[in-house]
Amino acid sequence: MFSNFHTHSTYCDGKSTPEEIVDYAVQLNLKSLGFSSHAPIPFECPWCMKRETLNDYLMHINSLKNSKQGIAIYTGLEVDYIPDTIGPLDFSKTLDYTIGSIHFVENFRNGKGWEIDGSHQHFHDGLAEIFKNNIKDAVDRYFELTREMALKSRPTIIGHLDKIKLQNTGYQYFNEADRWYRETIEDTLKAIQTAGCIIEVNTRGVYQKKTDSVYPSRWILESIKKKRIPITVSSDAHHSNDLISYFAETFQLLREIGFKEIHILTESQWKPYKFNEDGIKIN
Ligand SMILES: [Zn+2]
Ligand SMILES: [Zn+2]
Repeated sequence: MFSNFHTHSTYCDGKSTPEEIVDYAVQLNLKSLGFSSHAPIPFECPWCMKRETLNDYLMHINSLKNSKQGIAIYTGLEVDYIPDTIGPLDFSKTLDYTIGSIHFVENFRNGKGWEIDGSHQHFHDGLAEIFKNNIKDAVDRYFELTREMALKSRPTIIGHLDKIKLQNTGYQYFNEADRWYRETIEDTLKAIQTAGCIIEVNTRGVYQKKTDSVYPSRWILESIKKKRIPITVSSDAHHSNDLISYFAETFQLLREIGFKEIHILTESQWKPYKFNEDGIKIN
């Protein structure tokens, strides 16, 4: 039995309606399902929800909560953290949970945000213009923002912790074994631990064939395990077909690393559940 708290629907850049997602989740016998559309941000963004749609979204998802037997449905948002502009804390009061994610790191000279998970060309251009091709400074800033988000804006869940690695195919920019990279990850995990957030293990990079491992990488998961930071598993689905994509392999990996429990929102509380490669075990 699985659960998934990171899903996008037609309210943002997802391809399936909330009803289609719920129907497939019921077929899959999901224990809990969370909706996490991209929250509105105060500038033009093609993959975000429009500000004027937010109330409809909240009402719509809340109305689905008791629509089906046997599945718990929760209302969340994936919220960008942009200093002095927006963060998970701005939305937490009206939601069951928030996913805090860093997609933007600084701005181009023309005022447009640099997206770390855009095209390779876009990444390359921002790295050159904003960071003078200093990859260490760019990656350090990404993780510095992650730490700041955890400590200042307290999302329930930290989204795709090391997503910036999707630009690093073939290790063209850096090696994850580099000391500076390990140090910035270690500092980030400590901040997340202090903030009390859950870290998601996100399978999207793998099933989209953009990365060869889940977010975060195995060695980071090993450090998360040592620090006893709670984890949850999600697919960042943009289509109902991807609700449990690469889950069996991921649960297997987590077992190999030595994790015994993952955290699930159920009965309005985040609780640890034992699991095996078939997912969480109930009782
Ligand atoms: Zn994201
Ligand atoms: Zn997402």
